[in-house]
Amino acid sequence: MRKYNLAIVGLGGMGNWHRELLTGQGYWNNAKLQDIENINVCGSFDIREERQQFARDNGLHAYNSFEEVLADENVDIILCATPNDVHKEIVIRSLRAGKHVVCEKPVTLNSVDLQEMIDVSKETGKLFVVHQNRRWDEDFLTVKKIYDENLLGDIFRIESRVHGSRGIPGDWRQEPEHGGGMVLDWGVHILDQALMMIDSKVKHVYASFTHVTNELVDDGFTVELTFENGLVYMLEVGTSNFINLPRWYVLGRDGTAVINDWDLSGKMVRVTDWSKNDAVPIRTAAGLTKTMAPRTEDTIKEEELPIVRADIRDFYKNVVDTIEGKAEIIVKLPQVMRVMKLMEAIFESAETHKVVDFE
Ligand code: NAD
Repeated sequence: MRKYNLAIVGLGGMGNWHRELLTGQGYWNNAKLQDIENINVCGSFDIREERQQFARDNGLHAYNSFEEVLADENVDIILCATPNDVHKEIVIRSLRAGKHVVCEKPVTLNSVDLQEMIDVSKETGKLFVVHQNRRWDEDFLTVKKIYDENLLGDIFRIESRVHGSRGIPGDWRQEPEHGGGMVLDWGVHILDQALMMIDSKVKHVYASFTHVTNELVDDGFTVELTFENGLVYMLEVGTSNFINLPRWYVLGRDGTAVINDWDLSGKMVRVTDWSKNDAVPIRTAAGLTKTMAPRTEDTIKEEELPIVRADIRDFYKNVVDTIEGKAEIIVKLPQVMRVMKLMEAIFESAETHKVVDFE
């Protein structure tokens, strides 16, 4: 079995997440890592001395410069986990130095820069893959199964939300020049999920941004995508939400599913009998409604979610298998480009307050 040496550029929060995953430390302590044991983390480089020291303290070789990483012939793969605006330069220089590259999301800040990066990867023949890790989220895969298998009948609306109440973390994510803002940060994940789930063109895009804690970049957004097949997919990121709405809300003609949180608490409710439709009206102080009267127990069935399990280690397994010609890369560059162009349409819609035609 050949071992591949991987060097981390940018050993901040996420660079360290990769280090822990690949070395079986921290969260991954004692995890069985046989699927990725052919990747050896050979060192890291960070522009901050504090992170260089962190590397040394954790038994990692701290390269003195990025150039030193590039010049090391033993390095096979470079992981780029710097702030978003630096990805392009690091990816292109790494590919040109003959390295394979794993790049954190968002791959870069716009589609023109991404095309340049793709061109260099084609020219050099080296692997260039983006860490769209939330394709392995079990909540997403569970909703995808409900959609693929029509478990609620024809699905006509999906709502995908992530809510927090801490504003934007106090660093480069607050600054436009570093590629800050929530569309590029969280949007890129949940948009990628939407495009991986719905096999149809996106016809229209409508977006609005919030600026509750930050004037310069979006600290939250709501996006509505209308697919050619008629499905409406709503996406929302909020950073001033002190009460969270469910992570997923899925509406089909025969039922509804909800996933409340990362722990996958939730349920499906499906109609079992359409014939008994006589509602007992609900009376409130100021009125009466038959439309909003709850269904009687004998016409619906509550069911558990059909939970799909996943393992994020499959991302790196796929990287190695692709390098060795044994597999096709899962996160494909045309898919990454489609998400990037969709984010550009979202920025245009939010700026103009207009619906943007997309595909
Ligand atoms: P961070 O600020 O914690 O870490 C970034 C590190 O990069 C810092 O230590 C900084 O000193 C270093 N750095 C900056 N410029 C550099 C350069 N030119 N060369 C070397 N090091 C440099 O940020 P983070 O939260 O770790 O985010 C890093 C990247 O990971 C971002 O692109 C972010 O979007 C992504 N990310 C992905 C996920 C995910 O789930 N896929 C989660 C969090 C962050």
